[in-house]
Amino acid sequence: MIKKGFHQAKWDEPLIYYYSRKGKQGFYISEEDNLISKFIPDKMLRKELELPSVSEIDVVRHFTRLSQMNWGVDLGTYPLGSCTMKYNPKFNEYNPVITKLRKIHPNQPLSTVQGILKILYKLEKWLCEITGMERASFQPAAGAHAELAGVLMMRKYHFIRGEKERVEIIIPDSAHGTNPASASMGGFKVVTIPSNNDGLVDIEALKMVISNKTAGIMLTNPNTLGLFERNIKEIAEIVHEKGGLLYYDGANLNGIMGIVRPGDMGFDIVHLNIHKTFSSPHGGGGPGAGVILARGDLVNYLPVPLVNKNSKGYYWDYNVKYTIGRIRAFYGNIIPLIKAYYYLLALSGKGIRYVTNIAVLNTNYFISLIRGIRGLSIPYSVNIPRKHEVVVSVKKLYNETGISALDIAKSLLDSGVHPPTIYFPLIVKESLMIEFTESESKEDIEKYAESIKNIIRQAYHEKEKVKSNPKYTSIGRIDEVKANRPSSYIPSYRVFLKRGKKL
Ligand SMILES: *Cc1c(COP(=O)(O)O)cnc(C)c1O
Repeated sequence: MIKKGFHQAKWDEPLIYYYSRKGKQGFYISEEDNLISKFIPDKMLRKELELPSVSEIDVVRHFTRLSQMNWGVDLGTYPLGSCTMKYNPKFNEYNPVITKLRKIHPNQPLSTVQGILKILYKLEKWLCEITGMERASFQPAAGAHAELAGVLMMRKYHFIRGEKERVEIIIPDSAHGTNPASASMGGFKVVTIPSNNDGLVDIEALKMVISNKTAGIMLTNPNTLGLFERNIKEIAEIVHEKGGLLYYDGANLNGIMGIVRPGDMGFDIVHLNIHKTFSSPHGGGGPGAGVILARGDLVNYLPVPLVNKNSKGYYWDYNVKYTIGRIRAFYGNIIPLIKAYYYLLALSGKGIRYVTNIAVLNTNYFISLIRGIRGLSIPYSVNIPRKHEVVVSVKKLYNETGISALDIAKSLLDSGVHPPTIYFPLIVKESLMIEFTESESKEDIEKYAESIKNIIRQAYHEKEKVKSNPKYTSIGRIDEVKANRPSSYIPSYRVFLKRGKKL
């Protein structure tokens, strides 16, 4: 078997081979217990199998080590802007309903799955209430997938009305990258409009580009700068008057949930990221779930099936007049949806509003701590409170010292926290996008602000040190260009023992 140290291990070769030695094993099967040879003919059995030979403790150590190389909300502060990394209640993992659900099959007869359908039926009602929409489809597997569904609904809507010339979708330059990607995947031309000096949609620019070719606009409110589009009613009027639709990217509902509703702002289609706002794990912990919601005529275009109820009970309804059809196998990622159901059940209406208030308070408390740090600025509407997140710029620091947003992010890793999102939105140079959810404590937020302050102080005095961070992680700086390309690039592993020395 292959014997390799961590230092030589390749990405494409599981580290478990480090422990592997011929003859080691984690369990023992006696000849009598070995049923395999009874059922599988001898000639079809392999004599050798290329698997690591490891003992039970090797496996435990391997996976424990891997988990230590990773970072998660269960380990510490994780203010990754736009990603809403809130705590995922452990109750959900041990919830008896969810445990049972793991055993059902989507092809089971409806009469045997009435419980789950009832949960989804209720969840839909709640999500409609929160967003001001009429119906929802649970088909999409993620936010971007829901966006594609929404864009296809817009396309079919104009098509059915005979307005085939509507080939453009308007998107602000501060938008999440998935918005233009989804619009072009749906066959539309993306028309970008600039943000104004306040970081909001430039109404005059919108009026200039809107026309009979406009299929609709994709917006998120609060936008990616964490700013609430206060002119949203006017924007909705302008778009609707020209026959366009309003699509709401509701990936980050944490800034408004329980306070204002996209439906009341004039949006026709909304998507939600269950794995962000509604507490089901994402990143390494997924899978996520997107939900696509609609109101008015647009309900007739939702992807099938929808959950409905008649005298016989709950059922999957495929009878949606102009549906764009199915966009996924079976019925969506059900388990994250059930987690959202329990999250909302536990919070109730008041709790939902409380979550939003605390999340917004946390981000604004953080702003108060970092305001005025040398080299750092808060572009756009500097004195207006943010909603779920804030985007800061270290352009000045970069110009004065050569220390970039990337260097700060890498250095934060050594403080034992997760870095923020960097270089997004594109309209802010050297940006750090920071989102404290309701899960973080006052102390965690203070520690984070202190870490940023310390890094910036060091940047002005010993910038070479900052450039070489992180020092205490299992993997150091990687080549950003090569890391974004499929290649045979082998990063150098830092010796694991270094970890823990300082943290
Ligand atoms: C995360 C996010 C998305 C995409 O969601 P996925 O589930 O990652 O596909 C879209 N828009 C915004 C604003 C987001 O934050």
